Amino acid sequence: MGEQGSDGGRKTAKTTKRSPVKEKPTAGAGGAGEDKGAPAKKAPAGPAKATAARKTSPEKKTSPEKKTPAGKKAAAGKKTAPAAKKTAPAGKKAPAKKTAPVRKAPTAKKPLVAPKKATASVRAAPAKTVVGPAGDESRTALVRRARRINRELAEVFPYAHPELDFENPFQLVVATVLSAQTTDLRVNQTTPALFAKYPTPEDLAAANPEEVEEILRPTGFFRAKTRSVMGLSKALVEDFGGEVPGRLEDLVKLPGVGRKTAFVVLGNAFGRPGITVDTHFQRLVRRWRWTGETDPDKIEAAVGALFPKSDWTDLSHHVIWHGRRICHARKPACGACPIAPLCPAYGEGETDPEKAKKLLKYEKGGLPGQRLKPPQAYLDAGGRPAPPLGAG
Ligand code: SF4
Repeated sequence: MGEQGSDGGRKTAKTTKRSPVKEKPTAGAGGAGEDKGAPAKKAPAGPAKATAARKTSPEKKTSPEKKTPAGKKAAAGKKTAPAAKKTAPAGKKAPAKKTAPVRKAPTAKKPLVAPKKATASVRAAPAKTVVGPAGDESRTALVRRARRINRELAEVFPYAHPELDFENPFQLVVATVLSAQTTDLRVNQTTPALFAKYPTPEDLAAANPEEVEEILRPTGFFRAKTRSVMGLSKALVEDFGGEVPGRLEDLVKLPGVGRKTAFVVLGNAFGRPGITVDTHFQRLVRRWRWTGETDPDKIEAAVGALFPKSDWTDLSHHVIWHGRRICHARKPACGACPIAPLCPAYGEGETDPEKAKKLLKYEKGGLPGQRLKPPQAYLDAGGRPAPPLGAG
């Protein structure tokens, strides 16, 4: 799907055997650079609101265990925080008993509650929950942080969806193949003409290649893509009765279809959980230190182990949407990032809130999205449809 549609390195390898069309290569993977900045001073702006509001979640109790990018200072803070909790109640407890002996019971309970409030307020400050750069995070802490990031992103992108326009599995698999080496926007601007002329696998399989090439020209690599989509259409007609199969093992046999494309189709056309490891996904999970793997299949397995299977498809959307709008490859908008407190790579990009806001894309930047026909939830959230090809 879009950049998402590019199947990264994985697909590239497989595609090479079947078709010249390769899913997108793993573009500049922004490495998870050490955070040298002081996130504490740069509370995320804009989208970060959601983050601040959420700090009451239970996970917070574990987050503070991380070091701040600043280094030891964070480690120190971590240790002192819990200590403060313990001492605070004790300190308040005594005076309460002295001044209000009649309310002994309620007073005694207050100190037990107070620490929690104090904790919440402390953790509400993003700077204090920033994870450290070192690989000293326990497995449990990693799982909690990863899931918290996903929850935070779900609040930031509650309308996240596949960004390729499609009305059925056939359109989705074709659109995903076409998205290699180009954006979902360009694919969405191209496929209306393609599907209007060739609405079924049978139609596309029997098409004049030169006519298909002309339609697909705007997507780039149009000759190879023509061979792929016509090839997969023929395979669908000959091997699957003209229907897109709903099994991974069948999908990856289709020309131009790798695991990434297959999971896009399974997750979004068949409702079967799948992780889409595209270039954005690879870049972000490395920045977040969810895994040190570089092979897409291994990334898929490593990240999949951090989440319930039922979360996989939405997780993919959240990560990819964040990568497209905020955590860009070359210049991530750290200063406007809602998950900055949870990111070891904070500071890899622009940390000035105002400058960071200008880096936001699509609806987060007040711009049109990639789909010409986006879901209603996206429109309700203020998102705008993409313009058709040639418009504006
Ligand atoms: S934009 Fe956010 S997720 Fe990306 S590197 Fe910066 S702080 Fe981390």
